[in-house]
Amino acid sequence: MAETCHGIFILLGGTTIARKSRKQPLKTAMMDIRSTVGYIRLSVANKDESCSVENQKLILEQWAAEHEMPISHFYVDANHSGSNFDRPAFKQMLADIDAGRIECVIVKDLSRLGREFLSTSYYIEEHFPSKKIRFVSVNDHFDTIDGISNQEAESGSRVRIPIINAFNEQVSLDIQKKTRVALDTKATRGMFIGPRAPFGYRKSADNHFKLKVDPEATETVKLIFSMAADGVGANTIVWHLNENHIPTPIQYARAKGLQGNYDDGDGTWNTRSVKYILTNRTYTGALVQGKEKRVVEGSHSSLVNAKIFDRIQIALQQRAFNLTGAKKAPSTPNLLKGKVICGCCGSKIQRRRGTNHADWYFFTCLTNNRVGANRCTGMYVREEDIFSAIYHQLNLFVKANSNFNANYYTKTDELEHEIAQCREMLADPMECTMRLYERLICKELDKDNYLAEKAKVYAAKEQLEKAEAELDASRRRHEEFEAMHKVLRKELPLAEILDCIDGILVNEGRKIEVKWREMC
Ligand SMILES: [Zn+2]
Repeated sequence: MAETCHGIFILLGGTTIARKSRKQPLKTAMMDIRSTVGYIRLSVANKDESCSVENQKLILEQWAAEHEMPISHFYVDANHSGSNFDRPAFKQMLADIDAGRIECVIVKDLSRLGREFLSTSYYIEEHFPSKKIRFVSVNDHFDTIDGISNQEAESGSRVRIPIINAFNEQVSLDIQKKTRVALDTKATRGMFIGPRAPFGYRKSADNHFKLKVDPEATETVKLIFSMAADGVGANTIVWHLNENHIPTPIQYARAKGLQGNYDDGDGTWNTRSVKYILTNRTYTGALVQGKEKRVVEGSHSSLVNAKIFDRIQIALQQRAFNLTGAKKAPSTPNLLKGKVICGCCGSKIQRRRGTNHADWYFFTCLTNNRVGANRCTGMYVREEDIFSAIYHQLNLFVKANSNFNANYYTKTDELEHEIAQCREMLADPMECTMRLYERLICKELDKDNYLAEKAKVYAAKEQLEKAEAELDASRRRHEEFEAMHKVLRKELPLAEILDCIDGILVNEGRKIEVKWREMC
C-alpha cells in the first residue's frame, strides 16, 4: 500500500503534486488504490501543545492503525485560519479528491477542517459524499462510513456517529435532521431549493440552485406588477389577462414540456393565481426559504422594485380589509379561547356572538346539543362576567402569593452562584472532553481516570443546563408576577396575563373559578 502511494504522490516542498508523466499508465491501478489521507491544520494562534502537528499526526495514526487503514499522506496547513478554506494543502487535497486518488479523509476534530459552520458542513454533507469520500473526525467519533443520511437507520447499522458534531452542539442544530440542514445551508447561501422555479424564472442549466430570468414569462409577471403598481385591483388584472389570452403559469409550463398532473382549475387566471405572484418576494430578487424563512437578498435578478413590491402588499391588505369591513364589524379576538370549561360536564365551552352581530359575547356549553340530552345542565355565561371574575380573583391570587418576590430573589442568587461555579469548571465543555480524549491517547490518563473525568464534565454540563433553565423559568415567572401587579394598577391590559391562567371553570349558578398557574 505504502509503496504504491509513493508512486502517486511526490512530496515537493511540503505539498503534493500529481506526477503527470505517470498519470496515464497508472490510471487503472489508481482506481483500485484510492488511499487514506490525514488532514492537519495548525491554528494561527497556536498555543496549545495538544494541537501541534506531531500530536495531530499521532492521533490520526493511532486511529488509522486500529482500523487497518494506513495513512499514505498528510496534508498540512500551518498557520492558517479555520474561518475560510483558502489554504494551500486543503486545496491540494480537494484536487487530489477530484482526481480520484483519495478514499478516506481523517482529521483530529471538526475544527481542523474549518471553524465556520456552514462551509464546513458543506464539505462534510455535500462535497465529500458526492465524491464518495469517507470522512472521519477522530475526537468527535464522527465517521461517514455508511453515509451521513443513514443515521436514522435502525440499530444494527454500522453507522458510528454517536456524538453530535461539535458545530451542531454549538449552534444547537440537530444532526438527525440532515436533509433540512443541508437544504437550509443552501438557502442561507442564496441557493434556490424549491422543486420548480417561480413563474418568470427558470433554473439555470448548469446550476439547479440558481434562478435565471425566463424572458418570455417575465413579460407577464412584469405586466401584473405594473398594473398593480398603478392601483389596478386583482380582479381587473385577472379580467385583463384572460381577455388577452395570456397563458397561465401552468399552461406556459405545459407548452414548454412540463409533465405531470398539475391542477390548473378551469385553465384561466383567477385572483388566487394573480395574488400568488403579487405576494411572492422572490420577484424582488430575494429568496425567502428554509424552515426559518431566511431572507437572502440579491441572489438573482429582480423583476420588480422592492419598494413598489412593498407598496403593493399594503394596498392588497387594505383592499381585503375594506371588503370584509363592509359586510360586518369583525369579531373581537377570543382572548379566552380554550380556557373556559363547563363545571358540570368538563368540556371546553365555545364562545358565541350576541344576536345581530352585536358587540357582546357569551360562552355556552354545547354538550347537550352535541353528545345528547341530559349530559349536562347546560352552562351559560357572558364574557364580560368572566373578565370581571378574573380581575377580582387576580387580586386574591396576588395577595396569596405576596412572599413570592422575597423567595424569588434568594433563589435567583443561589442559581446564579451555581451557574458561575459550573461555568468556571467547564469553560468550554466540548473543548474539555476533547482535551481529555487527547490525554488518554497520549497516555497521560488511564482509561478509568479518563472515564471518571469525562463523567464529571458531563455531570457539570448537565447541572449547568438545569440551573440555567431553572433560572430562566424563574425569571419569566417573576416578570409574569410583576405584570399581574401592573394589571391590578390598570397599567397593563388584562390580556397580557391571560397566559397565567390554566383554566376557567363555570359552575352552577354562574359561579366562576379561575385556575392560576402555580407560582414556583
Ligand atoms: Zn357542560
